[in-house]
Amino acid sequence: MWEKIKQQINKISLLRSLRVRIFLLLLVMGMIPGYITRYTLLQNYEERAVNVKISEVSNQFKIIANHLLTYNYLQDPSSEVINAELNQISNLYDGRVLIINKNFKVIKDTYEIGEGKTIISEEVVKCFKGENTTYYDDQYGYIEMAIPIMDTVTGTVEGESPQIKGVLLSSISTDTIALTISILQRKAFVLQMVMTIMIIVMSLAISQFLILPFHKVTKAIKEVKEGFTDEAISIPDYEETEHIVDAFNDVLRRMRILDKSRQEFVSNVSHELKTPLTSMKVLADSLIMQQEVPNELYQEFMTDIAQEIDRENKIINDLLTLVKVDKTDGELNVDSVDINALLELLMKRLRPIARQQNIEVILESNRMVQANVDEVKMTLAFSNLVENAIKYNKKNGWVRVMLDADHQYFIVVIEDSGIGIPEESMERIYERFYRVDKSHSREIGGSGLGLAITRNIILMHRGTIQVSSVENEGTTFVVKIPLIYSK
Ligand code: ADP
Repeated sequence: MWEKIKQQINKISLLRSLRVRIFLLLLVMGMIPGYITRYTLLQNYEERAVNVKISEVSNQFKIIANHLLTYNYLQDPSSEVINAELNQISNLYDGRVLIINKNFKVIKDTYEIGEGKTIISEEVVKCFKGENTTYYDDQYGYIEMAIPIMDTVTGTVEGESPQIKGVLLSSISTDTIALTISILQRKAFVLQMVMTIMIIVMSLAISQFLILPFHKVTKAIKEVKEGFTDEAISIPDYEETEHIVDAFNDVLRRMRILDKSRQEFVSNVSHELKTPLTSMKVLADSLIMQQEVPNELYQEFMTDIAQEIDRENKIINDLLTLVKVDKTDGELNVDSVDINALLELLMKRLRPIARQQNIEVILESNRMVQANVDEVKMTLAFSNLVENAIKYNKKNGWVRVMLDADHQYFIVVIEDSGIGIPEESMERIYERFYRVDKSHSREIGGSGLGLAITRNIILMHRGTIQVSSVENEGTTFVVKIPLIYSK
């Protein structure tokens, strides 16, 4: 329900502006109390004025009713004094007075049109039963009253209830009340108009003022976009603007880091790609410079050139693999894979390289492990680790690969008796192109991308990789991968 209302509001383009919303809110909040006060005050005034009039008039008529009895007017309505009194009161209240006797006959009408007629209306009958009736007609603006003419004297003497000798029926105009109300209404209207204009002006000013910090935010962000400032922006006016700006600064900081690392990567790539080319150029130039090159030298240089081409090729291939296993948008071809078989196969492939250095390569497995992984990528990740363990080893050393699993993960430990990694390099070994000893790594054909590729593949599988090492003693990598892959 609320969602629907919100959608409807958002459809009206003007209401999507916070400023318009604040303005409307202030306007409504400012106007409603004024309207309520005006309405209730006028209503109260009317009620009170009518009540005062009724009590004033009914007191007057009670006095007249007594006079009527004193002058025996009901029997003989010719009394000049009473007639004058009745006419006077009828003029005073701008109304009509009728005197009705016991036989429901009108014996006096100040308008002189109803005399002699009989009136058996409800209020007259009720009045003869002792009930005072009062009725206010606000539409036509008059009050109608029926007052009993009671003979209290005979009533008390005989010990009976007062006798009702007749009824004084009157209708008096409430024009004066209506007039006062209309004057008050006009004044209230003018006042309210003035207030409305003031509220509109104030609401406009306040909404503009409240929205100002958000304009500042937009301006500051635009300036950053246009490259005016390189620092973090700050708009501390509101907690909310501070949050927006903080979030923006955070994005900005990350973008700068990303940009820096991108620049670094590009310069690293060009540098790495240029190195083999430079070697090739030197080798080729020196062959060209010599006029009669001995065959052995020619052979030797060409072998070197071929090696450099292989290196260039490896770097390019590794770069392409790294792009493919970028953990943010790489795709996995997950299948159920026998990890024992996978490790056995890759060790078999790497044993010839190990043999050159007389390094013993051992696989220990505690159980059969079947896991949901991308076989090709997983093989690449473990190959890199085992290859490193062989490459950065000592003559006659060993490499031990251990496989184990619990109900959730499988764990592969790759341990070697190699040269180890210095403490200060431990954090950086996963960086692209990072090598502890550049010349040594290059000698053995490393691109510096292997561990970066391995780590990305492991992260894509929601796994972890940890390293511990003692220089000159050896290195241990521990890889933990979930048995079931979950996105
Ligand atoms: P590279 O292609 O140079 O081997 P890697 O990314 O695979 O690049 O490794 C980065 C660096 O980490 C290597 O140059 C090496 O200095 C160090 N390193 C990796 N594995 C080992 C290991 N098992 N023993 C000692 N040093 C290692």
